[in-house]
Amino acid sequence: MTTASAPYDFVIAGGGTAGWMCAAALARFTPPGSRIALVESEAIGTVGVGEATIPQIHLFNGALGLDEAEFLRETKGSFKLGISFDGWLREGESYMHAFGNVGRALGTLPFQHYWLRAKRLGLAKPLQRYSLNELAARTMRMQRGRTQAGQEMPYAYHFDAGLYANYLRRYAEARGVERVEGVIEHVALDGESGAIAALRLDGNRELPGRFFFDCTGFRALLIGEALGTGFDDWSHVLPCDRAMAVPCAGGGDFTPFTRSIARQAGWQWRIPLQHRIGNGLVYSSAHLSDDEASATLLANLDGEPQGDLRPIRFTTGKRRVHWQANCLALGLAAGFMEPLESTSIHLVQSAISRFLAVMPAEGEASPAARDWFNGQAAFEWERIRDFLILHYTANRREGEPFWDHVRHMALPETLVAKLALWREAGFIHREHEELFTEVGWFQVLAGQGVEAEGYNPLADALPEADLAAMLAQTEAALVEQVKPMPRHLDFLADYVGAQ
Ligand code: FAD
Repeated sequence: MTTASAPYDFVIAGGGTAGWMCAAALARFTPPGSRIALVESEAIGTVGVGEATIPQIHLFNGALGLDEAEFLRETKGSFKLGISFDGWLREGESYMHAFGNVGRALGTLPFQHYWLRAKRLGLAKPLQRYSLNELAARTMRMQRGRTQAGQEMPYAYHFDAGLYANYLRRYAEARGVERVEGVIEHVALDGESGAIAALRLDGNRELPGRFFFDCTGFRALLIGEALGTGFDDWSHVLPCDRAMAVPCAGGGDFTPFTRSIARQAGWQWRIPLQHRIGNGLVYSSAHLSDDEASATLLANLDGEPQGDLRPIRFTTGKRRVHWQANCLALGLAAGFMEPLESTSIHLVQSAISRFLAVMPAEGEASPAARDWFNGQAAFEWERIRDFLILHYTANRREGEPFWDHVRHMALPETLVAKLALWREAGFIHREHEELFTEVGWFQVLAGQGVEAEGYNPLADALPEADLAAMLAQTEAALVEQVKPMPRHLDFLADYVGAQ
């Protein structure tokens, strides 16, 4: 890089998970000869958390051609079949948002209608009895591929996000991405177009480019500071604004699922990796002091803490637009919704794939492509936001100020409409491209005790005895499928040769 060099085709500002995911994808998919630079600063570092994913990560890793066992070895990863929400409805109760199917549909009618009818008849058991993923997860079992009965068990991973970024860095650099160590001191705009012309770095260096990715984390140096893109603040519906994180030595169950444990003014995550357990407390500073948060976290670890507690401050919400002029924001620079459903890394990957679908030639973005992108991103973020709010608003932890507060929040209209349909008819409305499926919503609605008064009367066509038999058979079949599965720890050790 010299001050007089021709502009890069793509300049990535920031080398956290978002920056290196972007670099790897561009290196893999842009035309040969594309010039790609990534600037990051070791002195500034990365946010250093982010350890749970959702099954869509397979699409990203698969598109890059990563070998799964190698990826798990490199990132000290483990398998994830879902998220257990402990104490979210009331203390002592637990439910799971497990990936994959729950029960089985008869014809075109989803399972939830049969379950709701069975519940009214006193025949229904808790949902976990009808979920292969949850049954496997609760018994600490794991396998890949189809079961003996041919059923798919979708899974995601827990991994060390820092190691993932390093792994992708090696991938990207091997494919020609130029890494620049340095601090971005100024973002130079083109006077006429208002687009970004170059990044000015320490040491009087300049990095000119045609298209820029803002992956600078919460700083949002390009999209926020330089381009002045506004921020939609969602803290009125997602009021947690701090996290305290600390890994600890392994201990307790090696769960093939993430634990999300409700606490006095927020919730705690527990994520087992090969070399440690990731832990953190997400909380509302209006309801809990940092000292109280530290004490709560330290009192609830399964092993000795490794290193200092790491405080993180954030405001939930998103940039009003993610793509402005010749700059696309990815990762925390685009916004943050707290890690309750492990969506941040997914949002990076979905933005990258959307960008690649309408990639501008020579940095000249068509306004139509940009508008489409921003519309899709807003839709995706807002629907995830609604799903997260559901976990909070439908709690019954009466008498705890934080939980009382979130139970009485005014809800977005989109969520109000969804809840009304569920309550009246047991129907879950999912719009095209919405991330979370009907089955995901069903599990959280049921788990959070949101009662449906009705269900689709087509479910009444099944005689009661057949309904009971269908439920019993489904349950028994799942138990049989889980029995021969190895334990998560053994399966992982075999698969990656890790332990
Ligand atoms: P960062 O990791 O902050 O990286 C920013 C980069 O920009 C760094 O390389 C930094 O050096 C660089 N930079 C900044 N300023 C400058 C400058 N002036 N000059 C040069 N370089 C600069 N996601 C999940 O999917 N699952 C989870 O379970 C999960 N848990 C999370 C828990 C918490 C509490 C938080 C806060 C986030 C969590 N996330 C999770 C989100 C996840 O951590 C991030 O989405 C992901 O790590 C991407 O971060 P990033 O790359 O955007 O930012």
